[in-house]
Amino acid sequence: MLAGAALLTTAACGSGSAETPAGQSDKPEVVAAFYPLQWLTEQVGGSDVQVTVLTAPGVEPHDLELGIQQVTGIRNAALTVYIKGVQPAVDEAVEAETSFDAATAVTTIPMGEHAGEEEEHGHEEVSYDPHLWLDPARLATVATKLGERLAAADPEHAQGFKDRAATAASTLGTLDQEFAKGLSTCKSKALVTAHEAFSYLADRYRLKQVGITLDPDTEPSPTRISEVAKVAKAEGVTTIFTETLVSPKVAEVLASEVGAKTAVLDPLESKPSGDYLSAMRDNLKTLQTALGCTA
Ligand SMILES: [Zn+2]
Repeated sequence: MLAGAALLTTAACGSGSAETPAGQSDKPEVVAAFYPLQWLTEQVGGSDVQVTVLTAPGVEPHDLELGIQQVTGIRNAALTVYIKGVQPAVDEAVEAETSFDAATAVTTIPMGEHAGEEEEHGHEEVSYDPHLWLDPARLATVATKLGERLAAADPEHAQGFKDRAATAASTLGTLDQEFAKGLSTCKSKALVTAHEAFSYLADRYRLKQVGITLDPDTEPSPTRISEVAKVAKAEGVTTIFTETLVSPKVAEVLASEVGAKTAVLDPLESKPSGDYLSAMRDNLKTLQTALGCTA
């Protein structure tokens, strides 16, 4: 083991500058907490930064625990991009001067309440709903602020950061227009979900989210399920939304009680098969079908 480690060290020193271990570049390292922030940071940072992500693909981000290496990564990074309230471990590890909390860039929505029913997973620290990346318009604002923040951290490349931030903001603006148009004429406005992650999307496009639970890991009570069933029936809901990474069981129980189908919406808490834009467009199609939209 020791001999191997020594060899690796020698090889690393031989291949480049002594200060730059093998596999690392001299670009500023930016840590993104989970997928949508990774996507955005890559758009805005471009080839001027090296982006790493804390939450592995396929992992539900809220309960993330950080290893020593990841904490060290955060300490050494030029910037850590996160949203306070999503991951308590990350909230604890970041330092104010070297972090960017995307929630400070936008108007947040207060946390939904279910009459004090269950503990909210990983959201105890903040009073707002942290799922703000599901509104493309708010994410566009985050892109602009992130560009400014990266420019301040690395003034030599400021223009590149600002240009790419402007491009990302405009791409997200286009997506926002597609949603606004696509959801403008629908039979139903009720968005019944298992995990209440879509408040920002509902807010932006005037849908009414009826969530069963804020916590995808907790079984909702039968009382809560029948409450939601009552609302769903009254609203003439035909589809109950489930999501990737969360067991569809709760939504299926509810759907059978209401006589509705289920369909999958992606809350983008983890890397989709495409990227942020394609997954959001898939969400739009799913919503248009489920809500009977004609645009
Ligand atoms: Zn969530």
